[in-house]
Amino acid sequence: MEDQRIKSVVILGGGTAGWMSAAYLGKALGPNVKVTVLEAPTIPRIGVGEATVPNLHKTFFDFLGIPEDEWMREVNASYKMGIKFLNWRTPGAGQSTPRSIDGKPDYYYHLFGLLPNHENLPLSHHWVADRLAGRTDEPFDYACYREPPVMDRNLSPKYLDGTRWTNYAWHFDTNLVAAFLKRFSTEKQGVIHVEDEMTEAVIDYRGYVTGLRTKGGKLIEADFFVDCSGFRALLINGAMREPFLDMSDHLMNDSAVATQVPNDDEATGVEPYTSSIAMSSGWTWKIPMLGRFGTGYVFSSRFQSRDDATLEFCKMWGLDPETQPLNHIKFRSGRNRRTWVRNVVGIGLSSCFLEPLESTGIYFITAALFQLAKHFPDKNFDQILIDRFNAEINTMFDDSRDFLQVHFSFAPRNDTEFWKACKDLELADDITEKIKMYRAGLAVNMPITDEGTYYANFEAEFRNFWNNSNYYCILAGLDELPDHALPALAARPEQIESAQAVFQQIKKTQRELIDTLPSTHQFLRQLHGR
Ligand code: FAD
Repeated sequence: MEDQRIKSVVILGGGTAGWMSAAYLGKALGPNVKVTVLEAPTIPRIGVGEATVPNLHKTFFDFLGIPEDEWMREVNASYKMGIKFLNWRTPGAGQSTPRSIDGKPDYYYHLFGLLPNHENLPLSHHWVADRLAGRTDEPFDYACYREPPVMDRNLSPKYLDGTRWTNYAWHFDTNLVAAFLKRFSTEKQGVIHVEDEMTEAVIDYRGYVTGLRTKGGKLIEADFFVDCSGFRALLINGAMREPFLDMSDHLMNDSAVATQVPNDDEATGVEPYTSSIAMSSGWTWKIPMLGRFGTGYVFSSRFQSRDDATLEFCKMWGLDPETQPLNHIKFRSGRNRRTWVRNVVGIGLSSCFLEPLESTGIYFITAALFQLAKHFPDKNFDQILIDRFNAEINTMFDDSRDFLQVHFSFAPRNDTEFWKACKDLELADDITEKIKMYRAGLAVNMPITDEGTYYANFEAEFRNFWNNSNYYCILAGLDELPDHALPALAARPEQIESAQAVFQQIKKTQRELIDTLPSTHQFLRQLHGR
């Protein structure tokens, strides 16, 4: 019988998606499959993508066998303990410091990690019971998590001896990531690198791609093709003609202006979090690394011109728009109807894209690679493998799209046409149901496992990625509270009372952490040796 195993894979594109795919598939498929990356040196990468989520190490670098400290050094990585949302409740133009709301600064944190349970109910629910009854005026994040006071002081998620005390993700230099993974894949995994531009996909009578022709006159043949050509999506939208489903009726932003800003770490410290600063027609990311931060204003061109957005952005950081090197980016929000068609699969920007409000880009790449390895076909291309993969990716994307839309729909600010229009966009049925559950005091997407099991098992995390803790951070952070406490809890005053000990323990731990942790700057200098 003919050997049906896939023997060769070509990856089109050498951005973050292309080199992550090469490294991951090189390992997952083993030495009997020849992996080639075809990359056009003349076509630039997108050049952004610097903030991540915590599963990156376990699902990607740990899978490759690369220790955390090693890859962190290679890519100038820093730590991210969550996202700080500034000025999402108060009107005004871009301002990098929090404005005031009800006498308190206008910011809240979206933290990683599951909330502790008390009597089988997440602490969020005990906090709501207290808050709605007027027993506490402490914000949700400070009451229920250990991290906020630590983050306010720019302290580290690790002690100097390397002991970690919390969940964290990373910031890194996107160009260094591609360069490091290129070295790793070609030197350690035997991946072949071809520098040339694809001009045409050769397709057989069944509609399958058999090879890619290049400007340099090559024909690169393979059994299976991974499209990592970025927003061009040359194989999946081009050769396969699979439609891209535009989702601008859920998320209106379509443009960004980005740059790098030097930072005096000695004077200010290094913030161990990403910031998301609300602007007049969108929001700006701030991603700190040693010696600099990356920043970009993500806005809707329907509501602000590129020139006005650039001015608002540069004014906020005190930059001169005439001399500052600026990267202007147009993007599309949405996903392919199917991202795997016949023997072509799209990964990265060619597959789907959401504005980077929750740093989903690199997560989507990792998750797609995990699912691709799990559903990897032979030459029979069993349709059920393809259908299941596509269903997983569609659910992953649509859930994240809905979670992002919640940020804009429930932000109380209404001061510009952009923020008003956000309130007019419809939410999908699935998220509408979740909001109803939240309002009724129920937990949304409560994981059925504890934190250790949840984060040790990517399959479980993938199925329940945005869970009760995430929804609470955003909705309670925006002052959108449930209508009432969960009735089953409200009927148990002794349980509400006994939760006070848990809140007090969090306060005690916060004080101990503040007294004992090194600064993030100190830790990173030790790690990077500078
Ligand atoms: P690209 O970087 O565009 O790479 C495409 C590759 O295809 C290039 O190597 C190019 O040379 C090659 N190519 C194209 N045409 C051809 C051809 N004809 N022949 C040969 N090669 C070709 N993600 C996060 O996780 N966190 C973030 O903070 C984040 N911020 C973002 C901010 C913005 C404004 C945007 C737009 C995206 C952001 N992302 C973020 C997403 C992240 O940047 C991408 O997911 C990631 O960089 C992957 O890009 P890519 O490799 O798919 O595409």
